[in-house]
Amino acid sequence: MPPPTLQDALLNWFAQNGRDLPWRRTYLPYHIWVSEIMLQQTQMDRVVIYFNRWLNRFPDLASLAAAREQEVLLLWEGLGYYSRAKNLLKTADLICRRHGGALPENHGALLQLPGIGRYTAGAIMSLAFNQSHPIVDANVERLFARLFNLTAPVKEKHTYAFIWDKASELIPEGKARFFNQALMELGALVCLPRSPRCDACPVRNHCGAFAQGVVGERPVVGKAKEIIPITMVSGVLHHQGKIYIQKRLADDVWPNLWEFPGGRIEEGETPEQALVREYAEETGFAIHELKKIATLKHSFTRYRVTLHCYHCRLRGSATEPALNAAQEYRWANPDELEHFAFPAPHRRLIHRLAREL
Ligand code: SF4
Repeated sequence: MPPPTLQDALLNWFAQNGRDLPWRRTYLPYHIWVSEIMLQQTQMDRVVIYFNRWLNRFPDLASLAAAREQEVLLLWEGLGYYSRAKNLLKTADLICRRHGGALPENHGALLQLPGIGRYTAGAIMSLAFNQSHPIVDANVERLFARLFNLTAPVKEKHTYAFIWDKASELIPEGKARFFNQALMELGALVCLPRSPRCDACPVRNHCGAFAQGVVGERPVVGKAKEIIPITMVSGVLHHQGKIYIQKRLADDVWPNLWEFPGGRIEEGETPEQALVREYAEETGFAIHELKKIATLKHSFTRYRVTLHCYHCRLRGSATEPALNAAQEYRWANPDELEHFAFPAPHRRLIHRLAREL
């Protein structure tokens, strides 16, 4: 009997080893769409928890389209990259108005929707509608770099185009749903970044890097992205038993999320000086009695943030804040803070406050 083709080997392996994930029980377009958006930049284990919570609250597209943005952001809190949540809401609304409440079974139409790019459109077309559209994520890039023994970095223009072309060419007729998932799943479970499990690999006989003994050298590494350290300060302002919070601008980092005011520490400033300045610039408030709470570390995209956090108090009485870097404000009771959507480091700060109290 001839050895199985690459496609058959992958499909058989996936049938026996594919993980049981909530969206794989239905393959409903809405489920595939939400899970794929969540999976961008987020680990699978976390996505499963958030996906189940999401479906509890928004079981279908219509319920999402009717939601308030703050509720969506609050449910998304902790996943980061909040533009993904805002785009889900915006797109749900558009689909209800323009596509009769169902995701269109059309690649071009999907690409017109906010937050849906080549990868997500391909995922919806192939996983939900089982149509022959390729998808390439980081797992597939790594897998192909090894299978086809690619000698240039995967993000290099020609290599990238080659990978997408191959991913399209290899899809067996009528089996896009399982084949595409098999590729990604093999990358996630077997063809691992650091220690690929070649001994357990169903496509070892097809693997160029394995045959050449260069698995450890694939994928070829491109230029590493520069990491940018930033030092910031943030202040929890107390006044008459309440805490001041403000809602960030819609076109800023962390758009429409709530925060404790603060900002970058400028050269030559201490964190305390920076906090007094930031409060004056952002709100017009004069603050004093600064007391350190903690120093938190946080990473997003290329930035490594060190955030110095303080308690502080208002000098004089509470007047209207200037709102120079925000669109709304509240004097909130400490136990109300859980009802507002905050960026991850500020939520960690709230947990610290809760422990202190
Ligand atoms: S043989 Fe090893 S390197 Fe090649 S695809 Fe399989 S796990 Fe990856």
